[in-house]
Amino acid sequence: MRADDITRIGVVGAGTMGNGIAQVAAAAGYDVVMMDIEDRFVERGLEAIGKSLDHMVRKERITEEERAAILGRIRGTTDLEEMADLHLVIEAVIEDVAVKKDVHSRLDSICPEGTILATNTSSISITELSMATSRPDRFIGMHFMNPVPVMKLVEVIRGLGTSDETTEVIRETAERMGKTTAMANDYPGFIANRILMPMINEAIYCLMEGVGTKEAIDTVMKLGMNHPMGPLTLADLIGLDVVLAIMEVLHDGLGDPKYRPCPLLRNMVAAGYLGRKTGRGFYEYGG
Ligand code: NAD
Repeated sequence: MRADDITRIGVVGAGTMGNGIAQVAAAAGYDVVMMDIEDRFVERGLEAIGKSLDHMVRKERITEEERAAILGRIRGTTDLEEMADLHLVIEAVIEDVAVKKDVHSRLDSICPEGTILATNTSSISITELSMATSRPDRFIGMHFMNPVPVMKLVEVIRGLGTSDETTEVIRETAERMGKTTAMANDYPGFIANRILMPMINEAIYCLMEGVGTKEAIDTVMKLGMNHPMGPLTLADLIGLDVVLAIMEVLHDGLGDPKYRPCPLLRNMVAAGYLGRKTGRGFYEYGG
């Protein structure tokens, strides 16, 4: 298969990442089928895309006509069988190994032999997920960043069995969606989270040990290293439960004590202080 052969793309999961991926794929001219388990989740995903496109119209980045054309290329469904005649299916369901394996094993029996299956997982082994299918050579990681329409990067992750051809088709397809790709091999956390999460974890150690206040830690990284936001603010945005889960993946997968999750992080998660989504993390969020 070549990148030119791909005209129809499926997205499984219409949540934060899935609807963003559906939007950028449709904006790049692909016909998109976006699937979720319930109508209300599909509707919510379509609404999020509509709002994001409204914003782009207001900013004069696209016209009203382009907005209508992009929306017209996205079809919502709750039926996975509708993935039957697509060239590429990108899975963006919840970060749960069993759920992802089930989705990929069903996609493997629904989709034609040539269809490439991709996963947007942040931390699960691409090789392990590929083994839920009969096509590890046509299975790959496509790790988009949040928010998808804004962030330029797609980290492309090859499983042990991923073919060169699949890798090249996916690299080119991501670029057609306006993204820049970086290649990674299938090791815990890939590149992005292997570097980001230990930095956040270390910031939490600094807070726990009293090296600095949360404001001091964030200010040092923001103004001293030119990061757009400090690591504790970023942890609140990502969700402390997600940070902890990815640290566990690094710790288990690499077996090195340098990846041990900070005890303060564990306490915060146990207390339900998960960040913005619960109104309280390292900082408090009104409303
Ligand atoms: P989310 O909770 O916003 O969306 C997940 C969606 O999957 C939900 O709408 C849910 O109903 C749906 N779903 C669950 N089981 C399903 C099934 N069997 N079939 C179809 N749909 C199903 O989650 P998200 O933040 O969009 O994350 C999705 C994936 O992207 C995860 O693997 C996550 O690790 C990864 N990711 C997330 C981010 C981020 O910042 N949110 C960044 C990069 C990668």
